[in-house]
Amino acid sequence: MSQQDDPRLVRYPASLADEYRRAGLWGSRTIAEEFHHRATLRANHPALEYGCTVYSYAELDTRSDQFAAGALELGLRPGDPVLLQVHNGPYPVIAWYGLLKAGLIPVCTLSLHRRHEISEISRRTRAVAHLVDATGPAGGFDLVGFAHEQAQGHPTLRYVLTIGAPAAADSTPVEHLGSHIPAEDARALVEQVQDAIADDDLAVFQLSGGTTGVPKVIPRLQAEYWYNATSYADWLGWDGTERVAFVGPLMHNAGIICGLHGPHAAGATLVLGSPHDPIPTLLKDTGSTDIVLGGAAYDVTLDPSLAEAHALRRVVLSGKKVPAPHFAALERLGVWAGQLFGMGEGLCLTTRRDAPRSVRADTVGTPLSPLDEVRVYEPGTEDPVPDGQAGELCCRGPYTLRGYYDAAEHNRRAFTSDGFYRTGDLVVRQDIEGHQCYSVEGRIKDLINRGGEKINAEEVEALLISHPDVTEAALVAVPDARLGERACAFLVGTRHLTLPEVRDHLDALGVAKYKWPERLEWLSEMPKANEVGKIDKKKLRALATAPIEAS
Ligand code: AMP
Repeated sequence: MSQQDDPRLVRYPASLADEYRRAGLWGSRTIAEEFHHRATLRANHPALEYGCTVYSYAELDTRSDQFAAGALELGLRPGDPVLLQVHNGPYPVIAWYGLLKAGLIPVCTLSLHRRHEISEISRRTRAVAHLVDATGPAGGFDLVGFAHEQAQGHPTLRYVLTIGAPAAADSTPVEHLGSHIPAEDARALVEQVQDAIADDDLAVFQLSGGTTGVPKVIPRLQAEYWYNATSYADWLGWDGTERVAFVGPLMHNAGIICGLHGPHAAGATLVLGSPHDPIPTLLKDTGSTDIVLGGAAYDVTLDPSLAEAHALRRVVLSGKKVPAPHFAALERLGVWAGQLFGMGEGLCLTTRRDAPRSVRADTVGTPLSPLDEVRVYEPGTEDPVPDGQAGELCCRGPYTLRGYYDAAEHNRRAFTSDGFYRTGDLVVRQDIEGHQCYSVEGRIKDLINRGGEKINAEEVEALLISHPDVTEAALVAVPDARLGERACAFLVGTRHLTLPEVRDHLDALGVAKYKWPERLEWLSEMPKANEVGKIDKKKLRALATAPIEAS
């Protein structure tokens, strides 16, 4: 089936797509060809640094061309989805552009995902290959063995690709994939594949924290996904001289926009680190000029050794409210600080470079694109709330999804009648010194934000109730100084399981560890919010933040 006929993919209405094209926001090149274009302009400039490994734009371009040709030679076909479970490093970057160049669709799952998540996502996307990374911590989870298990009896998964694992009869290491193919031949093949791809064709699958059930799949399309990144780079005024550090998981949407496509759209250098790298040392040793810090890393701003990162010019803070001392600490260092509110579904709000201090310190700013449309509605309605009052942020625009993939029923609830995405975030719109900007005041979606990883409460509750001794379950967030939030499970049941027993149950179901509750409370009955039996989570959240009684 051609992509244009895929009923699972919700397209932009033709009139809006034309408007985005006419306004020059959507370009005519694919992501792969945008990268290649930058590579012809910046051939000898470093595109990627990871420790001692450096790839120039030309090197990364050629290697990813060959990767693409090698993947097609292996038997993969344009349009095939490929699951990614990788760590930060140079090979995932080569693989990323290589997959796009072959017309394959990267599926951005997490290396932390296990059977429960991967089996559902791979079935929903009809993944054909699974790229796994064996370079994790020694004695850690065996992703290669896991990929082989996943392929058993799976209707579409046929290829296991590996990073950091020896060659085997049933898997293909990607380190030298296609390296025997002459660079010109690989380029010609890539051009042929790219010629057949339209600007509104599917490019990438990202995952949403979602509001119900298992994670929803977000389709990101060629032109809009690249536009999202170019406008991010433009926001920060990048001109190609920057050295942009990124330490979060690169295959997250934030990683792709802020860490990979953003710097490459500007012709800048990505200085890639790992989530466990000490950030001030990385910034200092690499002479990085820019970094985005997620909520769990905000304390870096208070680290005295950050003063030694002399090249640092800009810090973007994203993921949760910014405490005043953290913002002030950056100012004392003479570093520009601003905020970003973003999501895998698209919309970004950013504080303009020239915005007054109060806008940058206390709000997440304004929409990134001039054609973003934002409404603040009374939750669950299409009734606008006045400025100054909290309501649900709803949005549509040139890089916001028009529907989750293969989720027609969910889409009816997740969008307004005129196609605005209901984000589930509560915001207040206000005027500060002539700037109309937004602040995030909470959320109505039922999830826990654990250091940037979203835990879907309903999904975990259903898994908890599947235990024979549990009759009711509710998962709520407890505030945590480092991660922002952690999950606390309230349970009602016939036998009081211990926390390790509950975790063993989730482990046996193949649930990713970051979703396991970190605190457990047993109740004789759940507090109810109404007569139809809806659990009163507000009350549970209050209970969860109260000091723990010894039981
Ligand atoms: P994700 O799609 O995983 O990037 O998560 C997006 C969600 O993270 C948003 O819908 C918000 O709930 C939350 N989020 C992102 N940026 C911010 C921010 N600056 N402040 C508060 N919450 C944020």
